Amino acid sequence: MVARHDLTTDPRLLEDLLQARRGTAFFGRKLNELSDADLDAPSLLPGWSRRHVVAHVGYNARALARLVQWANTGIENPMYESPQARRHEIEYGATLSPIALRHLYEHAAIHLNVEWRDTPPEAWNHLVRTAQGRSVPASETVWLRTREVWMHAVDLDNGAAFDQIPADVLDRLLTDITGTWHGRGQNPDPPNGTLPEIVAWATGRARRQPREAPPWI
Ligand code: ZN
Repeated sequence: MVARHDLTTDPRLLEDLLQARRGTAFFGRKLNELSDADLDAPSLLPGWSRRHVVAHVGYNARALARLVQWANTGIENPMYESPQARRHEIEYGATLSPIALRHLYEHAAIHLNVEWRDTPPEAWNHLVRTAQGRSVPASETVWLRTREVWMHAVDLDNGAAFDQIPADVLDRLLTDITGTWHGRGQNPDPPNGTLPEIVAWATGRARRQPREAPPWI
């Protein structure tokens, strides 16, 4: 059954869902601004065209929807079979026709949203495992998606910038990244700048990278 509104009433979770939906709309808008031919151009990610980014963001929604289904059914449903399977899927997706690629993105985003809407309050706490092997409550899928859609909109390289990303998303992203660094005993000095500039640097996406930031994913 498809609910017309979220089954959860948790205000924090509803706020997070809103941020994920805003990010999805943002990514979709940037994608719609690209012509079919534009999709062939490089993205900001080394070795990836815009096609790869769109395919990845589409398949990411499908993978996260599997985690939500896992939480709802109790039947283990991992994001990807293996890192290789994930990579092959993206390579394959990047070869799709422009219309198929756009459909992949749109349908996957809608499907994930339906899974979220139909998740009852208690299932949001059920534990699932991310592609990195972390055990997290299903509610974490909302942040994982939020991170992807906002950041990869920038990677499309057609005008989206870090200063268009909401400050609370940037804050949380920076906390994730510095947490990963600290876990590895790394403590790089961020360059001076605004929050969007520092996050652009930390994610390795600053236009003129003043100091190399360590990888974080
Ligand atoms: Zn990604």
